[in-house]
Amino acid sequence: MALPKLAPVQPAHDKLRALGIVALNGMFDDMDALGVLRYAISDVLPDDLAIVSSFGADSAVLLHLVAQVDPSMPVYFLETGKHFRETLDYVETLKKHLGLINVHAIRPAVADVKRFDPNGDLWETDPDSCCHIRKTEPLEPITEQFGGWVTGRKRFQTKERGVLPHFELTSDDRIKVNPLAYFTDADVNQYKIDHGLPEHPLFAKGYKSIGCAPCTSVVAEGEDPRAGRWRGLNKKECGIHFDFNGAIASPMTAATRHTLWKNGAFIADPFHEWTEGSDPATASYTHVPLAVFLANKAAFLANPHPLGLLVSPGESIEDVEADVGRFASIAIKFPGFTDGRGYSTARLLSQRYQYANEIRAIGDVLQDQIPLMRRCGFTAFVVTHEPTRQALIEDRLPEVALFYQPVGTAEVPVGTRPFLRRVH
Ligand code: SF4
Repeated sequence: MALPKLAPVQPAHDKLRALGIVALNGMFDDMDALGVLRYAISDVLPDDLAIVSSFGADSAVLLHLVAQVDPSMPVYFLETGKHFRETLDYVETLKKHLGLINVHAIRPAVADVKRFDPNGDLWETDPDSCCHIRKTEPLEPITEQFGGWVTGRKRFQTKERGVLPHFELTSDDRIKVNPLAYFTDADVNQYKIDHGLPEHPLFAKGYKSIGCAPCTSVVAEGEDPRAGRWRGLNKKECGIHFDFNGAIASPMTAATRHTLWKNGAFIADPFHEWTEGSDPATASYTHVPLAVFLANKAAFLANPHPLGLLVSPGESIEDVEADVGRFASIAIKFPGFTDGRGYSTARLLSQRYQYANEIRAIGDVLQDQIPLMRRCGFTAFVVTHEPTRQALIEDRLPEVALFYQPVGTAEVPVGTRPFLRRVH
């Protein structure tokens, strides 16, 4: 199944913001699942919502609702390579039965599997990393293309999901819609009967929640329905329903003041600072100081999680030239307006090393610096200075028209150097 080619979209939640997500949850507390889904598709995020389905024991209910509202809504199935044969068959059964015409399988990167799980037993030794390379990572570029996604999570499933609302705002400003949040176990079963939905072939054998085969077991009578997932381990979620901070996204985060400016908007920052004593093997979404990286290089390179690098004044990016591709973000520190060393670091990264991920300016970033920083390859800026924040929001940055130190091949330098003088 080929993935559809979709242009990345900016989150467009103005309407939702105006209403306030908390108010929205209040409005829809009593709405039935079909009503929540219908409203989400028609009013909250039209043409900007997708579904991630596990095609597990209860998936038919949500997919049946989708089929009623819009059978062409994109449905993504995480084909981890670890599913029961019965689950793969069930994907085909439900597609046919419900008339879903836009179902896509997402697979992990072959290189990641080869590198981090060559024997196929990572689920046993480090299930968090296994879920990360098989689910979280492959899903990221997909969710980036949508303003929100629909999940089949329900309050009754676990203690942790007991507060799940219909609408959540994640820290990356996307919306998760949970139409079945208030469904009970009995509601799910009754819905399946009422609508004659085909059961997952393993359901009758005692599998009440079905994920990858190695991490799913039969549930005894009276047990939490998800007790059969990662049995014996202190793991309840695969990671894809976690917000960046590891919690279920909170509807109260809407008022957070973001300081990271990227792609024309202030957005939530998935990265955090390195704290002394952190484990290089398990760190995730952290800007690792360059010196710490060099001291623990082997452990960081074996770490499967997204990592960033922090370059401080006086440190040389040349020292990590061979490894820059390992980092999803490189943060360059500017301690003061007059310190220009960070510009050279960014130019080396973007021009000489062809580094294409995020180059971030942090520290004392001011309005006049940003156009110059952009020329050098910076793509993200941490801005706390209020006038600079306003200038960015109102698109009032000064333009740079004269280049004494040209960047790249497009800029024409001016100045007194003899080779620049025109011949008349
Ligand atoms: S559920 Fe188990 S096998 Fe599947 S990705 Fe997670 S750890 Fe790996």
